[in-house]
Amino acid sequence: MAIVTAVKCINQACSLSEGMLAMMETFRQMVNDCLRIGLENNASTLKRLSKLCYPALAKYDIISYYKLNAISKAAGILSNRKQSIKRGYPTRTPYMKRALLISSYGFKVENGVLQVPLGDRRYFDILLNSYVKCILSDAAVIVRSFTLAANNTVSIAYSKEVTEIGCNTTAGVDRNLANVAYGNHDRVVMFDVSQAVRVAENTCSITRSFRRNDVRIRKMVTDKYGRRRRNRVSQLLHKVSKAIVQDAKERKAAIVFEDITFIRKLYQKGNYQGREYRGRMNSWSFFELKRQVEYKAAWEGVKVITLTKSKTRGTSQLCPRCGKRVQEAERDNPFYRRQLWCQDCRKWMDRDVVAAMNIARRGADVFQRPEGLAGEAMVQELGSVTPVILKVDASKLTLSREPIS
Ligand SMILES: [Zn+2]
Repeated sequence: MAIVTAVKCINQACSLSEGMLAMMETFRQMVNDCLRIGLENNASTLKRLSKLCYPALAKYDIISYYKLNAISKAAGILSNRKQSIKRGYPTRTPYMKRALLISSYGFKVENGVLQVPLGDRRYFDILLNSYVKCILSDAAVIVRSFTLAANNTVSIAYSKEVTEIGCNTTAGVDRNLANVAYGNHDRVVMFDVSQAVRVAENTCSITRSFRRNDVRIRKMVTDKYGRRRRNRVSQLLHKVSKAIVQDAKERKAAIVFEDITFIRKLYQKGNYQGREYRGRMNSWSFFELKRQVEYKAAWEGVKVITLTKSKTRGTSQLCPRCGKRVQEAERDNPFYRRQLWCQDCRKWMDRDVVAAMNIARRGADVFQRPEGLAGEAMVQELGSVTPVILKVDASKLTLSREPIS
């Protein structure tokens, strides 16, 4: 059994003094200095950046903990930027606008008080609320760092050593606009998230009703309702992700996701879709559920697998029982909405249930035959007489059965 470190984060409101705000501003300036130095020298690793920046930060009158944290914050930003450039995404010159303060050293959490060091053994006390106190009182939990933000919130990161649960089975998650299907051959659970669609539509109609030609007020209105929408939708998804992780833990199943990263590209202008439809599809928070499940699963020691695009092709077009291609019902038939017909099994099946089952099975294929094995076998087989098909990955076999549409 592997032991892994799981990390979580908790927020609460707090009131900051003038002195604290000044320190946060100093921290912001230090990060920006580090970013500038890093860009000039093309350094993004913590080691190089520390060497370059530490002398330059000598002019700031602040404890050295914060200098180190500023450097590591800048290193994080720079290495993210580097990765974006590598992947060909457009980037801007990084610059920190908002004041904040991060430290992973020198602070204490004692008797429900977070003590933020000010230097000379003086501390700024932040009273923690009962919920945060309760969570941090767990003996297995280690407090890792705190972040103070200018909007008067403190965020505390904490971690725990978790033993990974050995899994017997897999369970797939199929994310759709109005529902989430989760399960495998034993049982598939459907979660209704159509409320999220309604929330998004409401937000749209509210912001659209704003007529005044004033950019600043328009931004305020869209920000406010966007925030409200995000909070309401993520609250809904929290219920779903909690149930999924709980169930996977009980069933000892690994959770399998399909990779739908670039799904937004399907709904762009010029793809012959209506504005309303595009708006609806683009307001779909498909990534949030995965994010939530991932961190909750890590906390419980449940394994999460993300399948690559090629491994999930046609998950809602093949029968989970026989692997044959299934037929879709006519679009305007209300009795068979989102239903699929398998000619061989002579059965109607729900489209989302089929997708969840297929994802679970393909996850199991990957799980039982780790990556690499198939590739290595293929290389060895080149030019030899042994048939390659024997050692081909099982998921590729399913693919080859799929007729060209
Ligand atoms: Zn079938």
